[in-house]
Amino acid sequence: KVRVRFAPSPTGGLHLGGVRTVLFNYLFAKKHGGDFVLRIEDTDQTRYVEGAEEYILDCLKWCGLHPDESPVAGGPYAPYRQSERKVLYREYAERLVMEGHAYYAFDTAEELDKNRKEVPNFQYGLAYRHTLRNSLSLPQHEVDELLAAGTPHVIRIKMPEGETVNFNDMIRGHVSFETSQVDDKVLLKADGMPTYHLAVVVDDYLMKITHAFRGEEWLPSAPVHLLLWEYLGWKADMPQWAHLPLILKPDGHGKLSKRDGARLGFPVYAMNWFDAKSGELTQGFRELGFLPEAFLNLLATLGWNDGTEQEIFTLDELIEKFSIERVNKSGAKFDFEKAKWFNAEWIKKLAVGDLQLAVKKVFADKGVAVNDDEYLAKVVGLIKDRCVLLPDFYQQAGFFFEQPAAYDLNAVKPKWTDTKTEFYREFIALLNNESTIDAHELEAKFKALSEQKGLKVGDVMLPFRIMLVGGKFGPHVFDIVALLGKEETISRIEKALV
Ligand code: GLU
Repeated sequence: KVRVRFAPSPTGGLHLGGVRTVLFNYLFAKKHGGDFVLRIEDTDQTRYVEGAEEYILDCLKWCGLHPDESPVAGGPYAPYRQSERKVLYREYAERLVMEGHAYYAFDTAEELDKNRKEVPNFQYGLAYRHTLRNSLSLPQHEVDELLAAGTPHVIRIKMPEGETVNFNDMIRGHVSFETSQVDDKVLLKADGMPTYHLAVVVDDYLMKITHAFRGEEWLPSAPVHLLLWEYLGWKADMPQWAHLPLILKPDGHGKLSKRDGARLGFPVYAMNWFDAKSGELTQGFRELGFLPEAFLNLLATLGWNDGTEQEIFTLDELIEKFSIERVNKSGAKFDFEKAKWFNAEWIKKLAVGDLQLAVKKVFADKGVAVNDDEYLAKVVGLIKDRCVLLPDFYQQAGFFFEQPAAYDLNAVKPKWTDTKTEFYREFIALLNNESTIDAHELEAKFKALSEQKGLKVGDVMLPFRIMLVGGKFGPHVFDIVALLGKEETISRIEKALV
C-alpha cells in the first residue's frame, strides 16, 4: 500500500513550497488509494519555534489536506512527533557504530570551532580526520575511558571514501553522488536526540513509507540517507524519492525565499505567521483573501501540468489527473498576478453558498454584521464575478449593508440644475408607487422620466449610481436598486439631494 509522509520541522510558518510538498504527497497518496502521514520532525530543539506545529495543523485543515495519521489523529505507528520517539533512535545509531558505519566523536564545541577557523571549508571527516577527537583517530582504550567517564559525545556516520552513491529519483531520474564530497554528518547528538538524518530514515522505515516527495533542497542529504538505508539493512524497503523543483522568484532568478514576500509585495506564507521572537507578523495567502481551493490549484501548477490547456482543477480532479511523469525538473516561477487570477476564477466557479461563510467573515472583520443570509446570498451572486480577493467583497458590496459614508458630491452633482433635483423628486414618487421592483421595468421608467425632463440619461444615471454606491463602481444600477429595495434607495437619494 502506498504510504507518503509530510515531515515538517516546526521551525516557523509554512510557505508556498512547504504546502506544495504536502499537496504533491497528498495527491500521489490519494491517487493510489494510499495513506498520507503527517510526522513532526522536532528533534532539533534549538530550532523549535513555539506555535509552529499548531500552525502546520491549522494550515492542513484550511487547505483540506487531512492526514490519515498524525500527532493529533494518531495511527498505527504513533507517536508521530519525533521528540516523543527519542528512545528509539539510539539503538540504531549504536548498531551503526558496532558495524563500523558510524563512530563516537568527542570534540567539544570549541575544538570544532577551532577546526573551522583553521581549515578553510572545514567539513567533518573530509581530509582532516586526524585533527579531530573521534573514535577513528583515538586508541580504543582512550575511547572506552571517555565513554565510561560519560564524556559528552555525538555519533557520526562514517562516509566511505571514494564511493559513488546512486539512486533513481522519480522526477530527476538517475542521480549520483561522490561520497568524498559529503562530510560525516552527526546522527545522534550529545543530548541523545537523533539528528534529522537518522530520524528521517528510521521513521520512514518504521512507518513503512513507500514514496517521499520533498523539496529539492534535500537532495544533498540524499546520499547520507541512502547509505543509512543500506547500512541498516533496509535498502529493499527504501521509499522512492521525488525531489520537487524549486519555486523561483517571479523574475526566475533564484529560489523564492521566505524573506522575498515582504520585499516583493506578496505573501509567501500560507497563513499569517507571527514570529514571537522578532514580533514580526508576516501576511499569509489566507488572510489576504485567497480561497483554499485557489491556493491549492495554483500550487499544483507550480511544477506540474496535465499536458492540456486546463488550468483550473478541483482537488478531486487533481487527484485523478496527477502524475509524477508530468512534474518538471526545472524550477517553477511564482507569479503573483497569476495567483490572483486563480483566486478570481475560483470565486467565479464556486456556488454562492460555498462563498457565503467566507464573505460573512470579511464583513464581520470590517465590523459589519450580516443577519440576513438570503440577502447576502443575492449580493454575493450579483458581485462575485468582480472580486479577485475575498476582501473585494467588502469593497464591492459594503454599500449593500451600510450607506456610503462619504462620496464626492461634485461627482454626484456635476453641473447640478433644478431640473435634476426635480427629476430625482419625481423618481422618488415613482418609486413610492411601485409595489415590487423589477430592475428592467424600473430602468425603462427611469429613462422615460429623464427624457421627459429633457435630460440625458447618462447625466442622471451616474449621479444615481454614486448616491447608492458611493463611487463609480458596482454592478448594474437597477440590479442594485432591486436588492437595496425601495425604502433604502429613496433614503439614499434624499440624503444626496439635501
Ligand atoms: N524535516 C524535514 C523538513 O523540515 C523533512 C525533509 C524530508 O522530507 O525528508 O523539511
